[in-house]
Amino acid sequence: MCVLTIFFQNFQRNKIFQSFKIFYLFKTNQVNQLYKIFYSYILTEKQLEENSFPKWFDNTASINETQTNQQKKLAIIPNLNPSQQTKKLDNIKKLATTPNDQTAAIMNQTCKRCNKTFQLRSKDYFYLTSNSECIFHWGKLRNVRVDKAIEHKYSCCSGGMDSQGCDTGKHVYDGIYNGNGNGLNLTGYVQVSLLSNEEDTKLSNNVYALDCEMCYTTKGLELTRISIVDMHLNEVYESLVKPDTQILDYNTRWSGLTEESLKNCNKKLKHVQSDLMKLFNKNTILIGHSLESDFKALKLIHTNVIDTSVVFPHKMGAPYKRALRNLMSEFLQKIIQEDVQGHDSKEDAAACVSLMIWKINEDLRSKKFANIFK
Ligand SMILES: [Zn+2]
Ligand SMILES: [Zn+2]
Repeated sequence: MCVLTIFFQNFQRNKIFQSFKIFYLFKTNQVNQLYKIFYSYILTEKQLEENSFPKWFDNTASINETQTNQQKKLAIIPNLNPSQQTKKLDNIKKLATTPNDQTAAIMNQTCKRCNKTFQLRSKDYFYLTSNSECIFHWGKLRNVRVDKAIEHKYSCCSGGMDSQGCDTGKHVYDGIYNGNGNGLNLTGYVQVSLLSNEEDTKLSNNVYALDCEMCYTTKGLELTRISIVDMHLNEVYESLVKPDTQILDYNTRWSGLTEESLKNCNKKLKHVQSDLMKLFNKNTILIGHSLESDFKALKLIHTNVIDTSVVFPHKMGAPYKRALRNLMSEFLQKIIQEDVQGHDSKEDAAACVSLMIWKINEDLRSKKFANIFK
C-alpha cells in the first residue's frame, strides 16, 4: 500500500495526522528528523524547576555514578508550594510513658482526604490501628446550578460542601517533601548515567511517552504500574510494581489496581529503575502529562522532558493545569479515561503522544520547522 493511501485512510480515521509531512516522517521512520522536531518542545531548565521536577541536591555529584551509588544520594523537589510541603520533623513526638522506647515514637500526618491528623510509628512507618477511620468524598467539588443559585456539590454523591463523606478507608498523604532535600522519599533516585549506553547509537534518538499509576502507602504515593509507549504508540515497557511499604489505599477507582492484581507481583521499584536505565540514555526524550509526579514515583531524574500540561497551558496560567482527558476531547475529539475500572496508564501515555503529534501538525502550518525540512 502506498504511503499516500495510508495517509488518507489515517486522515479520515484519526485526526492526528493532518499534515502529510509529519505522516511521511512517521511512515518512513525518519527517527532523526522526528527526534529533532520533538526536541524543540522539551522543557527548559527553568520550566523543569517551576514544575517541580526532581533534581539532585548536589548537582555535580551523581550523574556519572553507578545506580547503587546514586540511590544513596539525595534528590530535591524544587519549587513546592507550601500546601505540598509536609510539616514533618518537628512533629515527631515520643509518648511520655515510654521515653526510651524508640518503637513508641510516633509521627503526626495530616490526611489529604479528610484533613484529620493521623499517626504513623516513626521507626517503620507502621499505620497505627488507633487511628480513626477516614470518611471522605472521592469526587471533586463542582459548581452546580440549583434553581437559580450556584451550589458546591461533590461529583461522587452530589453531597454538599459540609456533608458527611460517602466513602471510608485509611487516612492517606502524598509523602514527606519539604523542598529542601530533607524529605523521606528523596533517596533512591536514579538518572541515566552519562557514561552508560554512550556507544549505543541505536538508542540515542528515542522518544517515549510514560505514565504511572500510584497507590497510597505509609510513605505516601508510591508506584504500582508503569507504561511506556514509543512515538508510533507501540508498547515499549509495561509492568506492575509492588511497593515495599504497607499499602493504605490501592486507589482502585483511579488506578484500576486491586490487592488481587498485585498479589503475584514481584517487581519492585529498584527493578523497574534498572530496566529504565537500560531502555533510556541521556538523549531519550520522555513525554507525559504532569510528568513530575511520575518521576517522583519512579524516583527518576531526567531532563529531556516534554510535558503536555506545559505545552497545552491552562488559560489561567500555572499552577492551574488542564486535565489530559479534556485536552484529548478538545483537540482530538477522543474520549479517554471512561473506563469504570480506572485509568489505563498505557492509554494515557499514548494520549500524550497523540496530542504532541497534533501540536506538531499545527506548528508545521506556521512553518515552525522550516529549518528541519530544508
Ligand atoms: Zn482521612
Ligand atoms: Zn461523596
